[in-house]
Amino acid sequence: MTIPTTARAAVTVNGGTPQFSIDHREDFPVPTPGPGEILLECKYTGVCQSDYHAAYGDWQGLTQAEGVTCLGHEGAGIVRAVGPGVTDSKVGDRAGALVAADSCGTCEFCSQDDCALCAKINLTGFHRNGSFAQYINVNTRFAVHIPEGIPFEQAAPFMCSGGTAFTAVKTTGLKAGQTVAVLGAAGGVGHMVVQFAKARGLRVIAIDVGADKKEATLATGADEYVDITGTKDLPATVAALTPDGLGVHGVIVTAGNGKAYAAGVGILRPRGVFVCVGLPPTGSAIAGAEPAAIIFKAITVRGSLLNTVEDMNEALQLLKDGKIKEHVEIRPFAATGQALADVGASKTKGRVVIDFAK
Ligand SMILES: [Zn+2]
Ligand SMILES: [Zn+2]
Repeated sequence: MTIPTTARAAVTVNGGTPQFSIDHREDFPVPTPGPGEILLECKYTGVCQSDYHAAYGDWQGLTQAEGVTCLGHEGAGIVRAVGPGVTDSKVGDRAGALVAADSCGTCEFCSQDDCALCAKINLTGFHRNGSFAQYINVNTRFAVHIPEGIPFEQAAPFMCSGGTAFTAVKTTGLKAGQTVAVLGAAGGVGHMVVQFAKARGLRVIAIDVGADKKEATLATGADEYVDITGTKDLPATVAALTPDGLGVHGVIVTAGNGKAYAAGVGILRPRGVFVCVGLPPTGSAIAGAEPAAIIFKAITVRGSLLNTVEDMNEALQLLKDGKIKEHVEIRPFAATGQALADVGASKTKGRVVIDFAK
């Protein structure tokens, strides 16, 4: 296949402001891969809530760098060219690009495969053009191989939401048979967390807002559902759902709101693990900023950030084995701007994925 010189790209105009718009271009230059890079033709890209926040400019620190015009960090497709020195990828490989795009490679964190914490971390779509462009350069340190048998439209959103969910469950450190509560269990990341927790052999108590989410949440594999709005005493309700009545071993908060964080500590048993995933507005606090609630139960609080290549390989294997099902809604390229607006307004069902061929 000859590589075109230009291709499709959904370009941000007035990015980082509420007046932003998306220009759907057919003539965006195709880059040439540099040393250590591959040229990835994205067949599909997922659209993430953080893309919307970066475009709108309401998340401090998460904006596109000068000269970066294409958002998107959930691209999956085929390697079309390799740059100098690349030995671990070849033309025709099936690949995806992680959220992490580059890092120093030598600091304490990078040398322990913990690059997300590198002070020089670069992110796909924010520090370099992301998968809203059909062709992107990807550093092979942050490219993953997508096994045969996984459709690209399923693999694409895994690069962010699937990986985030997998890593959140792993971060609990819980063992099969223990109980975890997922706050925000019906959400985009939440419904994946429920499935990964089940795949790990955990008992799952799904917690969300509204009785109408019960059916869908139980269908993803949760053992119990608790409607937080219909429950007067959440700790007592959740404790009654654990075999020994002591509360859950772990809590994963995927909801981006302060109330979910405040509720989480109360349902943990002593020595419980609290995993923070959803980004609440500035000013929110765990357990209402009451340290005693954490001290008297000897709670461990952990933040869960981006996944590593190794985590992604494990997560993709679970997807391939049919243990995880991601609900995707496919839209044509020309609807990328609308998709971004709908994701921002939480008007979508499942993960929105853009098809570059349509
Ligand atoms: Zn994302
Ligand atoms: Zn580093």
